[in-house]
Parts: sequence; structure tokens; C-alpha cells
Amino acid sequence: MKKHINIPIFVPHHGCLHDCIFCNQKKISGYKTSFNEHQIRDEIERYLSTAKGVPHIEIAFFGGSFTGIPIEEQRSYLELATEYIHKYDLNGIRLSTRPDMITKEILDFLRRYPVIGIELGVQSMSDVVLQASKRGHTAEDVINACKLIHSYPFELGLQMMLGLPKDTVALSRYTADQIIGLEPDMVRIYPTLVIKDTELATLYQEGLYTPWDLKTTIDLCLDILPRFEAAGIKVLRIGLQTTQEIQLGQDIVAGPFHPALSQLIEEKRLVNYILDYVKDMKTSIYIEANHKLYQALVGHKKRHLSIWSDHDPVINISQNADLPKHILKIGNTYHNGYKHAILHHTK
Ligand code: SF4
Repeated sequence: MKKHINIPIFVPHHGCLHDCIFCNQKKISGYKTSFNEHQIRDEIERYLSTAKGVPHIEIAFFGGSFTGIPIEEQRSYLELATEYIHKYDLNGIRLSTRPDMITKEILDFLRRYPVIGIELGVQSMSDVVLQASKRGHTAEDVINACKLIHSYPFELGLQMMLGLPKDTVALSRYTADQIIGLEPDMVRIYPTLVIKDTELATLYQEGLYTPWDLKTTIDLCLDILPRFEAAGIKVLRIGLQTTQEIQLGQDIVAGPFHPALSQLIEEKRLVNYILDYVKDMKTSIYIEANHKLYQALVGHKKRHLSIWSDHDPVINISQNADLPKHILKIGNTYHNGYKHAILHHTK
């Protein structure tokens, strides 16, 4: 059973002052228009009917710039959500918005409702990248918005993108480090995908934009994830959720899309961890794991098998159903070293 769900209410592009060149929320969210009151009620009821016993439930307004929506509309969304929060004793409201749409007045207004979390689309902390993506705000706007939000009891979430126009691996690392310095409670990481009917798709078709490949994306995530974790910042998501709308070749024109990106990254972390752990072992190495962890060692589409067989000395992997789910047996020792990666596969 899930411990936490967000009931997503999409307000695609609603409140956005700009058309960021990579964004097509109608494709990403799978909804062409914002929900009306009737649809919101239906959606909340539908989620609640399948969420019996889930201890933490939030209503989340995603897909647009919530605080840029005309105030009377914001009020009606918030009042409707508040009604359900009280009626079903839910945990609160979460919303996403732009850094340049955070002011003291807006935050005072949100405080009148059970809003518990605000997520900002940061995307990059490089002004060059922000400008090339036509975000319409600067890195300084992000810093100011975060400071202001921190002066209220809201949970702060920050979203970053990898591989936007003019972005580099070094700039994405810089963005991650800057975000860590802003002390959010959680982050979401989105590799840039070229989505149909966006300016980025036109740039791509004209040869003026080259998306990152999957390997660059995974390697960068392997670099920045431990930094977020070391700072105690939760990484809630890596990559877009696969919806019926978002499918490579249909709405995604190009880019490092993989339906199981997080899994690929965690498996690679596990592999790297083991290779480092066994680097001084000189004789044949044996690794045992329970079924789920064994699957991670084998890797998505068996992509890791050659890593073990080509290793010198050979690494033999096998299943051991008696092992607890977090424990690997390496050589003759039991090991619970890379807890995060291992836990990821055993949820
Ligand atoms: S990225 Fe955010 S601010 Fe930009 S158009 Fe999309 S929803 Fe609006």
C-alpha cells in the first residue's frame, strides 16, 4: 500500500505569463484544459475511492502557474480543495508555480487555506539557460522566492531540468549545487524532452538544438543524486511520468526518455557501488541477493550481465530467497551498504 498520494488537479498552462520553449502541458499532463468544478469533484472522489487506508493524501494543483491564475479563480480552486481536505481529513494542498509569481501578498493569501507545499519550477540557475529557454525569470528571482517561502511554514519543492538549450553538464551540476544551497525539502528532476508542438521541437527540427542522450542524463543523475541525499533533500521524481499521451515517437520527438529512468539510475548506482566495493578482491567473487535485488543486479533488459561476466575476476551473481530484502551477500560477507539504492528496488 502506498504511504503517500497526491490527487493531481491539472491546470495546464493556466496562469503562465510565458510559453517556455520546452513546455506543452497539454501533452505532458494529458489534459487540454483546466478542470471545471464538476470534474475536480469527480477526480477527487475517484482518487479517494482507491486510496482507502493511505495515511498521507494531498490535493495538488499541477501543470500551470497556480499563483498567476486570476485571484478569484485561485480562490474557488482553493475553497473547493479545502472542502475535501476538511471532509475527508486529508493532509493539505500542494501547488506548483513560477519563481517570479511569489510575493508576500500571494503567500499571505495562500496561508488562509490548508496549503502545505509550494513547488517552484526553477529549471536552471544559469541565466543564460533560463533566457535561452524563454523562462522569463532569472536565477535571482528563484533565490528571492525561496527566501520568501522559507519565511512561511510552507514546504518548499524545487524542480530542475537537465539539458535545456545552452545547458551543459557543468551548468546542471552548478544548478543542483545552487538548489541544495536554497534548502528545499524536496526536488524533482526532469531531463529535457523535445515535445511536439513546442518551440524546442522546431529548434530541434532545424538542427539548432541537440537533446542530451540517455547516458549523459544517467551519469549526471548519478553525480547529483548523492549530493541531494547528503544534504537531506528528498528526490521525489526523476523524469516525466509515462502517460498514455507521453510516448516516445508520439508526443516526444526526441530526448532522453525512458519509461523506467529512475530504475535505470538506481540499478546503475547499485552496480557502481558493488564494483567499488569489490575492487580489491583478487579471486572469484560471489554475490547473492533475494529475488528483487537480483533483478536489479541483472538490470533492465539484462543490461548488466556482461558487467559481471567481463569483470576480472568474474563476479557470479545468484538468487538466495533466504536473504532479507536489503542485504546482499558479497563473497563471504553480508552487506547492507547501499541502502538507498537497494531499498528502491524493494519497496
Ligand atoms: S514550464 Fe511552467 S511556466 Fe513554463 S509554460 Fe510550462 S507550466 Fe507554464
